[in-house]
Amino acid sequence: MTDAPRLRPSLLDALFAPARGLPGVGPKMAPLIEKLLGTEERPARIVDLLFHLPQRGIARPLCGAIAEAPIGEAVTLGVTVSEHRPPTGGRRAHRVLVEDASGDVSLVFFGMPKARVEKMLPLGSHRYVSGRIELWEGYRQMVHPSRVIDEAGFSDLPAVEPVYGATEGLTSRAISRLAHAALDKLPVLPEWQDPAWLKANGLMPFADALRAEHHPEDAPPPVAEGQAPPQTPARRRLAYDELLASQLALALMRARARKKPGRANAGDGHLKERIEAALPFALTGAQARAVEEIRADMASDKRMLRLLQGDVGSGKTAVALLAMASAVEVGRQAALMAPTEILARQHFERLGPLIGALRIRLLTGRDRVAERRATLSDLAEGNIDIVVGTHALFQDSVVFRDLGVAVVDEQHRFGVHQRLALGAKGEAVDILVMTATPIPRTLALTFFGDMDVSVLDEKPAGRQPIKTITIPVERMEEVVAGLHRALHAGDRVYWICPLVAESEFIDLAAAAERFDDLTKEFGTTVGLIHGKMPGPEKDAAMERFASGETRVLVSTTVVEVGVDVPEATIMVIEHAERFGLAQLHQLRGRVGRGAKPSSCLLLYRGPLGQVAKARLEMMRETDDGFRIAEEDLRLRGEGEVLGTRQSGLAAFRLARLESDGDLLEVARDDARLIVERDPGLRSERGEALRVLLYLFERDAAIRLLGAG
Ligand code: ADP
Ligand code: MG
Repeated sequence: MTDAPRLRPSLLDALFAPARGLPGVGPKMAPLIEKLLGTEERPARIVDLLFHLPQRGIARPLCGAIAEAPIGEAVTLGVTVSEHRPPTGGRRAHRVLVEDASGDVSLVFFGMPKARVEKMLPLGSHRYVSGRIELWEGYRQMVHPSRVIDEAGFSDLPAVEPVYGATEGLTSRAISRLAHAALDKLPVLPEWQDPAWLKANGLMPFADALRAEHHPEDAPPPVAEGQAPPQTPARRRLAYDELLASQLALALMRARARKKPGRANAGDGHLKERIEAALPFALTGAQARAVEEIRADMASDKRMLRLLQGDVGSGKTAVALLAMASAVEVGRQAALMAPTEILARQHFERLGPLIGALRIRLLTGRDRVAERRATLSDLAEGNIDIVVGTHALFQDSVVFRDLGVAVVDEQHRFGVHQRLALGAKGEAVDILVMTATPIPRTLALTFFGDMDVSVLDEKPAGRQPIKTITIPVERMEEVVAGLHRALHAGDRVYWICPLVAESEFIDLAAAAERFDDLTKEFGTTVGLIHGKMPGPEKDAAMERFASGETRVLVSTTVVEVGVDVPEATIMVIEHAERFGLAQLHQLRGRVGRGAKPSSCLLLYRGPLGQVAKARLEMMRETDDGFRIAEEDLRLRGEGEVLGTRQSGLAAFRLARLESDGDLLEVARDDARLIVERDPGLRSERGEALRVLLYLFERDAAIRLLGAG
């Protein structure tokens, strides 16, 4: 028996209502809210406002002495008004001299009625003034103080005020008011956390935590201005809720994937032997180990869910092939999915010569109708052993006779649901996902839960280290001269033009222009490839470069992932300061694949910001993908490290892995226990946990509960 899929509990309806329905939102404000919190797929909702947490700002700063107040910075001073100098014929400004025990400063007002200035700052009165002090002809002055208040007003100021990430036209104050209106809509929610754990960690209920974050004036003041938001108990509570939701969703998916016993895909090894003999190299120790782990996993009757992690160039493809061979040995089929046409085609062409009599086919979105029809029917009838393809493999029309294993290459480009879709194309399909993006442990946990992991921590022998050099763009001519020499010596060169603008078309223009320049320099040996090219043209451009017909390939970042041309030894990256670390590392990994020494030239335009400088230094310093990934996480935050935006995996909204990473493992253990004890989430806490999953929109996992 299966339950009907449950819908979101009506309890949460109020939170998922559009934010523009809140009181006080008029036609002018509504589009601003959408701009700040809406997405293409959905309007900004009340829950989005609630999860848009403020930083803390200081509203009632400490007062300083006039003589010690730093010039040019915002200060608040407690002063006594000693003299008024209203505008006269020659002077337009109304000056008010104020003093404290340490010195004096003149407050300057332009175009303000005399009566108003005098009322605001009566002679002899004590006032608090905030603003920036500047020096004018050697005297201290403050032009148009941002705030002038009396004793009573000062003590009414909140100690701290919330400061929201705002958008043009929508101020932090306005967002604060909206957040308060949103808090009024918060229903009474059941407690989904273990009460004992909350108590032990001194954490408050979810609703209290949200209120505390949006009303920081009631909470203890921050440590200092300009610091990252402190880890208040409220923030920790919210972070933990979000992390638990994500880990629980993963644990549920995993439990379901493992529930049906897998099938043993234990081949006798005859294909493996044949393929190993056909490979032009011997496996590295790491490759051999990974193959053993994977094949042992496949041979067991548990279902395999394994991540193969290996830096660029570590040789994941050969491992994938030997894994697929295991399923084919027992008469089942294997699928290898790549994120781009170029990669799918490259895999297809590489595997062909290695697999002898096995029947292999390519399936991409580009196939002609008749071709596609033939492939689909051959897959369904079992006339194909290995299919290599792109997203096209997910489509409903793709049916296998008996899929044994699915390998997903460069998996971070795909969303979780896509991985599941492929796994659903057969009975208890073994799944191997491969990634070249070295994933720090915290991130691996986030996205894969406790998936098994094999690591290729060794590169094929004979690889030369890549020499990395940073060069200011002003020295482009020297670079070009150097390329003349290199091309003369038979080298092949990638020349990467970055994404310069939001619009891909502008980027293309930049790449096309560079292509023209370099063609003038080097003639017909220069090729061009970019993302907007029709597929066959892309293939042809790649093919010409791989065969050596062209020897300089100007490219937008389409070559980033996976492309393998061992003869290429020089990588030039223009505007390297605009790339993230992981991306630079990926790009650099395109060279250094053969026996010849390679180099990577990072061209930058100065002056460099701090982060860009740190990145380029890191690139020069190390070739170790794991170190680079950790550093990348530190520099950028977790959201972008995996390119999550492209893959549709939402980054966390409340948790920050840099500071809440320690909670991730706790959440994982907690989730595992929950699923062990209450796999259907039917207990009282289970019901509350369902609310949590819906709240953080991890409810895809709930649908699996019924379908088990
Ligand atoms: P990645 O892990 O980045 O996907 P590939 O599978 O594309 O790496 O392999 C990179 C290059 O290294 C390819 O040219 C491949 O033929 C070669 N290669 C793979 N394994 C070995 C090995 N054990 N010895 C020598 N070269 C190898
Ligand atoms: Mg690869």
